[in-house]
Order: sequence, then structure tokens, then C-alpha cells
Amino acid sequence: MPVLNRIQFSPQLSDAKVEASSGGYDYAASTRVFMQFANRFWESEGLNGWGNTDWPEEIWHPTWDRGGARGLLMSYLFYDRAVELDQLSEENGTQHLLNRWTNVFPGVYDNIELEHSTSHSWVLQEWSGGAWASPTEEQNEALASHIGVAEGRIHFAGEHASDYHGWMQGALVSGLRAATEIHEGE
Ligand SMILES: Cc1cc2nc3c(=O)[nH]c(=O)nc-3n(C[C@H](O)[C@H](O)[C@H](O)COP(=O)(O)OP(=O)(O)OC[C@H]3O[C@@H](n4cnc5c(N)ncnc54)[C@H](O)[C@@H]3O)c2cc1C
Repeated sequence: MPVLNRIQFSPQLSDAKVEASSGGYDYAASTRVFMQFANRFWESEGLNGWGNTDWPEEIWHPTWDRGGARGLLMSYLFYDRAVELDQLSEENGTQHLLNRWTNVFPGVYDNIELEHSTSHSWVLQEWSGGAWASPTEEQNEALASHIGVAEGRIHFAGEHASDYHGWMQGALVSGLRAATEIHEGE
């Protein structure tokens, strides 16, 4: 939805779709930061690299089943925490997380050798502009029923056009609905 208004439609889409695609339908922010370490220092503490913090933040260990000494840890941030991180440079963002991780992995600075880090923000990504639809109650009431409605020969699918925001199921269900509409010539 946040990138729909970058396509020009003539005639224009319905007022509801224009409103929703012009910032009137909130999206969740999400950012993931990946850090590659020369060794899996957390294992010497008896930790498996997975965790939840009260920030809130999820910590994942994407290399858990890979051989070798190196390891990746990934910080999975949502909503305000993701927006905050998006405002920092790559380097400052990594530092910010490492500072926080001193609470999660005590001695993190003494034990680690950080080789690389990189991040991905769904808000900053040119062709997504957000992670998943997360409308307020009012937005949901006013706009949700319009978002998946076909306009002439244009059909709309995607998690935002379903009842399952933020899930692949929403993409699938709405895709099937749109395919059926086209098949039945609605
Ligand atoms: C961080 C994160 C974690 C998630 N975790 C889970 C999970 O654990 N389980 C789960 O079920 N779901 C999860 N989801 C949700 C799931 O990924 C989405 O619901 C699903 O991918 C949405 O599919 P979609 O087809 O609606 O949209 P998308 O997959 O976003 O596809 C839309 C595509 O359109 C492209 N596009 C945009 N503009 C244009 C244009 N003008 N021209 C051509 N192409 C364009 C985009 O680049 C994109 O590839 C997660 C999502 C995120 C962001």
C-alpha cells in the first residue's frame, strides 16, 4: 500500500484507495541487523544465540546449524525500535545494538570479534515502504473493506488486502480471491 501511489492510474483509483496509499493506512516498521562474529562467543556462556528482550527485540542465530567457528546473530526489531534504528548510520546502529547487548551477553565487548554487519529496513526499502499493514481501529473500519475491491479490470491482492495482516496466509488468501475474480470475470 505505501508504494501504490507511485503508480499513476487513469482514471484515478477510488478515494479510499488514494487515502490508504497516501499514508492513511498505517504500516508496521521492521528492521533486521545481522552481525558476523569470528567466533560464537555466546556458546561459551552456555547460550544458544536465541532470545527475546524487553526492548522489544528478538535475537536470532541464523547460523545455528552451520559448521565452522564463525557465527551470525540477528537483531529483529519492530515498530518504534526499528524506526529509531533506521535513523542511525549503519555503524552507529551496530554500536547501539552492541551497547544494548551488554545486558544480554555480559562481556560482549571483551569476547567478540565483529567481522561485518549489515541491516535491512522494510521502511527504507524503496519498493516496500513498510513491513506489513498495521492499521489503527479507525483506519481499519473506514478503509479495510475497500482495499481489496477490484476497480474495473484492476484487481488487488496482498496481505494488506486480506484479514491476515503480516502473514503469508494473507498474501495467499487474497491472491486466490483475486484470481477467482479474474477467472469469473467480475
Ligand atoms: C520482517 C518480516 C517478517 C515476517 N515474518 C513472517 C512470518 O514469520 N510468517 C508469515 O507468514 N509472514 C511473515 N511476514 C509477512 C509476509 O512476509 C508478508 O505478509 C507477505 O510476504 C506479503 O506478501 P505480498 O505478496 O502481499 O507482498 P510482498 O511480498 O511485499 O510483495 C509485493 C512485491 O511487489 C513489489 N513491488 C512494489 N512496487 C512495485 C511496482 N511498482 N512494480 C512491480 N513490483 C512492485 C515489491 O518489491 C514486492 O516484491 C513477515 C514480513 C516481514 C516484513
